[in-house]
Amino acid sequence: MAIKIIVMMKQVPDAEEIFIDPVKFTLNRAQARGIINPSDENALECALKIKDQTGAEITVLSMGPPAAESAIIECMGRGADRGVLVTDRVFAAADTYATSLTLAASVKNLGEFDLIIAGESTTDSGTGHVGPGVAEFLGIDQATYCTSLHIENDALVAERDLEDGTEVVSIGLPALATVLISSNIPRRAKLRLKIDALRKGIEKWDHDTLKLPPEWVGIKGSPTVVGALKIPEERKRAAKRITVDQLGELVKELGGMGLIKTEEEEA
Ligand SMILES: Cc1cc2nc3c(=O)[nH]c(=O)nc-3n(C[C@H](O)[C@H](O)[C@H](O)COP(=O)(O)OP(=O)(O)OC[C@H]3O[C@@H](n4cnc5c(N)ncnc54)[C@H](O)[C@@H]3O)c2cc1C
Repeated sequence: MAIKIIVMMKQVPDAEEIFIDPVKFTLNRAQARGIINPSDENALECALKIKDQTGAEITVLSMGPPAAESAIIECMGRGADRGVLVTDRVFAAADTYATSLTLAASVKNLGEFDLIIAGESTTDSGTGHVGPGVAEFLGIDQATYCTSLHIENDALVAERDLEDGTEVVSIGLPALATVLISSNIPRRAKLRLKIDALRKGIEKWDHDTLKLPPEWVGIKGSPTVVGALKIPEERKRAAKRITVDQLGELVKELGGMGLIKTEEEEA
């Protein structure tokens, strides 16, 4: 039987097109184009590589506004078999707890699965909570910070990027993995697959599909409270032109500020 993989994908605003409201200091995302969250492209690529080797079946799962449909179609154009968008006003303004809970309930609604792959974090909130949160709600093992994934003897073998090296772990299925943006180069969509995806369409699930208590989801189910918002002070940068003769003086100055160390200090 084909391995069943779920790729969690969030549509995020293209960071280059987000503007900061100079008066309210809020992010104006309205004008920004929606794109696949960058590390979710890597998550999908990991799934597609497993599909290339084993013939796995890939479902892309996303929670977001109706506009996220285009990002799911793009994923299907790259080779995912099925797309599900969880979309309803009651799910809006969820924090990472409510998002993880709703996505975990959606995974249960999909039925049996072997592997969930998520990006490590998003470019718009970037907490990195959601992958591990979904694994916890489902009670399955997880491997985070992965750079490569493959299936061996019914287990997930994952390479994890740690600060001082690489760790290889093997965990039983079903499991969840989060992958880093450095893990691969995502493939492009194929026109034929994209046309197939548009013909096939995606499934849209709402509150009636998942039947979660309304106080568990969206803003009501979100315990996060933003206490205050501080805009960091803009740091002034200055350039200084010096001659070679002044180099020694500059090294001393930077050393005094603790910005560089001498060879003796390094040793
Ligand atoms: C302090 C704080 C306050 C916030 N307040 C609000 C608010 O008031 N209103 C509001 O709308 N948002 C708010 N957010 C944002 C909201 O919490 C997140 O958009 C959402 O919960 C996802 O978290 P994230 O983007 O940090 O995902 P991460 O945890 O960084 O994502 C990791 C991975 O999980 C998967 N994933 C994440 N989200 C989804 C998704 N929706 N569908 C499918 N897969 C997904 C992807 O694979 C992603 O790469 C707030 C966030 C913070 C930190």
